[in-house]
Amino acid sequence: MLKTVKFGGSSLADANQFRKVAAIVKEDLTRRYVVVSAPGKRNSGDDKITDLLLRCQRFAAAGSDYREALSTIRERYFSIAKELSLKADLEKEFSVIEEALKKGATLDYVASRGEYLNAILLAEFLGFAFVDAADAILFDENGALLEEETNRRLAAVLRKNPRAVIPGFYGANAKGQVVTFSRGGSDITGSLVSRACQADLYENWTDVSGLLMADPRVVENPRAIASVTYQELRELSYMGASVLHEDAIFPVRAAKIPINIRNTNAPGDAGTMILPAANSVPGHITGLAGKKGFSAIYIEKDRMNNEVGFVRKVLQTLENHGVCVEHVPSGIDTISVVVSTAELKDEVDQIFVELQETVQPDRIALFDRLAIIAVVGRGMIRSQGTASKVFGALAKENINIRMIDQGSSEINIIVGIEEKDYERAMRAIYAAFVAEE
Ligand code: ASP
Repeated sequence: MLKTVKFGGSSLADANQFRKVAAIVKEDLTRRYVVVSAPGKRNSGDDKITDLLLRCQRFAAAGSDYREALSTIRERYFSIAKELSLKADLEKEFSVIEEALKKGATLDYVASRGEYLNAILLAEFLGFAFVDAADAILFDENGALLEEETNRRLAAVLRKNPRAVIPGFYGANAKGQVVTFSRGGSDITGSLVSRACQADLYENWTDVSGLLMADPRVVENPRAIASVTYQELRELSYMGASVLHEDAIFPVRAAKIPINIRNTNAPGDAGTMILPAANSVPGHITGLAGKKGFSAIYIEKDRMNNEVGFVRKVLQTLENHGVCVEHVPSGIDTISVVVSTAELKDEVDQIFVELQETVQPDRIALFDRLAIIAVVGRGMIRSQGTASKVFGALAKENINIRMIDQGSSEINIIVGIEEKDYERAMRAIYAAFVAEE
């Protein structure tokens, strides 16, 4: 049995959190590889170290005074080290960082130092080896991860170090320059480490006891999800449920390694298991997620279904403008293309002109301020009544449905509604499923 454990920023925000982390790691000898984020917020008014580092770099690049931001960062690390009686030479580490700032260090390099320093401290505290991600996680010159090379290199480095702490969030390119993932990317590092060491489980420790069935800002006290498949999680996180970086799923999914989301502040809670496949209860949904900020381009044309290439031409026009298409519900003579409003930007007029020319529709219109809700559940495959429950709940609330789409995987039903109805719709759908159990 071998486990990779990743701790998020709030799990390592101060010395007390370090102690909790050490207790978790030490309690189970199979927890051999530890991936860390930079220290996060200690309370709601606090700053994340990564944000402070980014600020430092921006000030330095603009020729302004970065010293105040840097000294706040220093204090955070020095206080952790002091309270835990660690001997790491932070003085030296900070002089290297300061030198780099003076010489115009890149944003990626500076941002990565949060994880780097945290991993050095935690490695010492645990008595584990420190493995620098810059030596094992490899990017190409365009900043894209080199998956295969990374897997090989990481596996080799980990074989030499039976217990190690690895900083999350970054790696390096062939020139040795640090490259970071997008924000929250330590989850990806955890996933890569899990695959490289062929872990049996990837535990992702954070400050919530797993994934909830709905957004707690909208639905009061939603239930926790005990198990979710990778595929369901993709649907939920794409639609706004955030517990893990979107790209973190792929490496472990390929290796069929389950992920367990756990709570550092409530280690007794079982959390949520993310699995390649899981048993399903017919009629039961796994969760709900949604987002506002969509627009639908509605196109109508008689005998559209007989016109070869019609849909392609519509999509091509959007592609030419770099607009990503989210959903394409269609009828015999109608098609709607749902896109994020922000993506359409100022191009909408030009897109309409081009669509008029290329497909000559009978009618074309734009509907803004749409919200989309995804009802996700492996239990809805081949089980009757899920859709009627969703639509019944909305009808009872007098909510007008603007769009319906069911993915061919049959694990989700997508409904488009007006933004003003979003919160009410979420609560109504949640209640319709949960009340009956
Ligand atoms: N520290 C980085 C961030 O704040 C990466 C991470 O925490 O995963 O985004």
